[in-house]
Amino acid sequence: MTAVADLMDYAEVIERFDPVLGLEVHVELNTNTKMFCGCENTFGGEPNTHVCPTCLGLPGSLPVVNGKAVESAIRIGLALNCEIAPWCRFARKNYFYPDMPKNFQTSQYDEPIAFNGYLDVTLDDGEVVRVEIERAHMEEDTGKSLHIGGATGRIHGAEHSLLDYNRAGVPLIEIVTKPIAGTGERAPEVARAYVTALRDLLRALGVSDVRMDQGSLRCDANVSLMAKDASEFGTRTETKNVNSLRSVERAVRYEMTRQAAVLAGGGTVTQETRHFQEADGTTSSGRTKETAEDYRYFPEPDLVPMAPTKEWIEQLRGTLPEMPAARRKRIQTEWELTAEELRDLFNSGAVELVEATVAAGAKPGDARGWWVNFLTQEANAREVELAALAITPAQVARVIELVASGELTNKLAREVVKGVLEGEGEPDEVVDKRGLKVVSDDSALLAAVDEALAAQPDVAEKIRGGKVAAAGAIVGAVMKATKGQADAKRVRELIIERVGA
Ligand code: ADP
Ligand code: MG
Ligand code: ZN
Repeated sequence: MTAVADLMDYAEVIERFDPVLGLEVHVELNTNTKMFCGCENTFGGEPNTHVCPTCLGLPGSLPVVNGKAVESAIRIGLALNCEIAPWCRFARKNYFYPDMPKNFQTSQYDEPIAFNGYLDVTLDDGEVVRVEIERAHMEEDTGKSLHIGGATGRIHGAEHSLLDYNRAGVPLIEIVTKPIAGTGERAPEVARAYVTALRDLLRALGVSDVRMDQGSLRCDANVSLMAKDASEFGTRTETKNVNSLRSVERAVRYEMTRQAAVLAGGGTVTQETRHFQEADGTTSSGRTKETAEDYRYFPEPDLVPMAPTKEWIEQLRGTLPEMPAARRKRIQTEWELTAEELRDLFNSGAVELVEATVAAGAKPGDARGWWVNFLTQEANAREVELAALAITPAQVARVIELVASGELTNKLAREVVKGVLEGEGEPDEVVDKRGLKVVSDDSALLAAVDEALAAQPDVAEKIRGGKVAAAGAIVGAVMKATKGQADAKRVRELIIERVGA
């Protein structure tokens, strides 16, 4: 049984304490093979089918470092503005756990491949916080334990446990921040924004599929509080495996309110790992934290040290893509967006599509409007991703061009887009097949105007008497008669001309 913890009101926490954060992010690399053997590196699969003597830790087996994983580690380090170690080694981190068949994890300890970097993180309102990176080191993932029979899926209360070693030996990079202080009430938001920025960066680098839901990106959140007059950091807790961006924010916030209540009640915070409960947003006590000494680290004797040359590092630097933060800034300037518009655009997941539509000749504002509004609605209605819609950026650009040239009204353009989505062909074909061109021929429009005026003589009279607003009814009738294919502005002009108002 876990007692319900006392919590302090958040505003009071902020009044009395300063939070300090430390974020540890594990990312699984998307290399073809595992870190130290040739086994396939894929998520899932029949249990224990991607295993060999090396990743099962059988006696006599020897590891070989995956060069592609080292390459990814260096690229991550460079993207995080880190120094790259000219020489470093793996270390054995010794502990026993059934999902780790070697009884040690091959990791890095005091010689990480990358260290001393930073990542600039943009908060929702545009404020930028620089998060300093302590190190990014290489290691391997463990297998997975499945606890059967209990209510919670945890080992407590389970009847038996099963082990799947498919994940054992999958390449991991652990990225650890320096303590993040001074963020005050925004600490939970900073934590989420940092993990988001890191995820976007790793995705841009193409080194991982960064799926928090599948565990290829995992975050442990360290939190401590300092009383306002304190000069040293308080004792931290480490909340493990928080599985979504939103949970990162919730877990930090919860720990702040829980620790504050403990401290205000005269208690002390225990240094321990804690588990985040998705269901109610609370954390519960895990195990008291080991210290480095408990792990009996020593240099891995079965692997040679790594000494990436300057040339190789520079060559890898040349492969770095435009960084997400720089890209955001460039897009905001080029497309003249407010901070809010920029955020909506990125949240919509349409950035690449809008870029491609602009590249195909559309104005940024038009391209953004189509993807973020109408096409997003269509995607939602069809329950598909925006990118999976059956329309290309070039086709959207063509529709935009037809509107700009006056050949389509916005309303007709939406019909054309629907036709394209239904597989009726290119925009121009849909226009022809569905007969959607704007009636721009004045004589055809005049006939419809005359007919509508004749049908509503009282309205015609009002307009003639100076009540120009009454023309709306006639415009409506003409639009109806032309099935919406008239340019409303031109129709209005013709009505006024006709009645001689
Ligand atoms: P561990 O081996 O315990 O996981 P790490 O050094 O890997 O330790 O990570 C600890 C994380 O917590 C780092 O991000 C570090 O900056 C941060 N940290 C250290 N001290 C504190 C503290 N008092 N409060 C909050 N975070 C801290
Ligand atoms: Mg750690
Ligand atoms: Zn293997």
